[in-house]
Amino acid sequence: MRIADIIRTSPEIPVAFLEHTDTVLAVVTDDNQRIIDCNGNLTRSLYTNQKPVGRPLSQILCPVDDSEKLSLTPSRIPNFLFPVILKICYTEAAYRCYAFEIAGGGMILIGDQQGKTDNDILHSMSMLNNEMTSLSRELSKKNRELEAANRKITELMRTDPLTGLANRRYFQERYEEAFSLARRNDFPLSLILLDLDHFKQVNDTYGHDAGDRVLKTMGSILCELGRLEDLPARFGGEEFIVFLSHTDADGAMAFADRVRNTISHMDILENGYTVTASAGVARLETGDSKEGLIKRTDDALYRAKNLGRNRTEFLPKDNETDGNNGKAKA
Ligand code: GH3
Ligand code: MG
Ligand code: MG
Repeated sequence: MRIADIIRTSPEIPVAFLEHTDTVLAVVTDDNQRIIDCNGNLTRSLYTNQKPVGRPLSQILCPVDDSEKLSLTPSRIPNFLFPVILKICYTEAAYRCYAFEIAGGGMILIGDQQGKTDNDILHSMSMLNNEMTSLSRELSKKNRELEAANRKITELMRTDPLTGLANRRYFQERYEEAFSLARRNDFPLSLILLDLDHFKQVNDTYGHDAGDRVLKTMGSILCELGRLEDLPARFGGEEFIVFLSHTDADGAMAFADRVRNTISHMDILENGYTVTASAGVARLETGDSKEGLIKRTDDALYRAKNLGRNRTEFLPKDNETDGNNGKAKA
């Protein structure tokens, strides 16, 4: 059986082929060269799923160089074929097309896609290259934004929002490092706990905002007076903690006194109210655990409170005996 016979007896075979091929174009038009039907390749090439039925053929196909308007004279006799190279408008794909008159008027245009020239390939590659460059630029920018956002999140997670100091969690992290380092290398390490005196009164008398202003000021003082390697943090409500690496108890007490002295000489609320603070100091001693050292600093603070506030107290390890240090806070 010859191909022509197969097409005649099983026309669904060429119809299915024309519908699925990506390299052959088939368009049927009326007498005015308006599209009546087309195959799937044309629809897909136009990035749509609707056939461009009713559209003038010249809006869809054009000569390869875009220079002139499409003009087609369909042949009557399929044996004398004059191909014309057309492309789908706004795409690069060129087709070698043949147009045939069809019985009852109109025409069918059938074309097969032309292999690309080296220039076409180079052009496509350079387009792709440009696209990749701009995509990778975009990606780097997004990555930088992501890194910045991550840095911001980390910073927020470590910071007390009111005072801008380290929060208790970040303090704990850094304190553990400093503690291990001091222990391993036998460096001095001291801790200070500072608590504002009668702070409840500030809130009760002048309001919570005034209280917040005092807390912020304390944060700034600790930052300004401290060394870069010391880590001041807000430990709780109106309680602040600082670890001082390479610093013995005398240095820590001097620092605590400087902080207390500074805040007590400021007119934070601009009404003459004097804010004072009490401080407890302890230094790393033999046999101390991380928690034990914090606990002794806390006991020193309570001792300062008990002894009348607005003062700094140091508690050495061998004094840690009564178990009642400051617990009878006045
Ligand atoms: P003492 O001298 O014994 O430390 O007395 P105090 O009043 O400072 O201590 P107390 O523990 O009785 O009160 C602490 C107050 O701190 C109560 C609480 O409302 C206040 N406070 C805690 N956090 C904040 C805050 O973020 N802002 C403000 N404005 N006040 C706070
Ligand atoms: Mg207090
Ligand atoms: Mg307190």
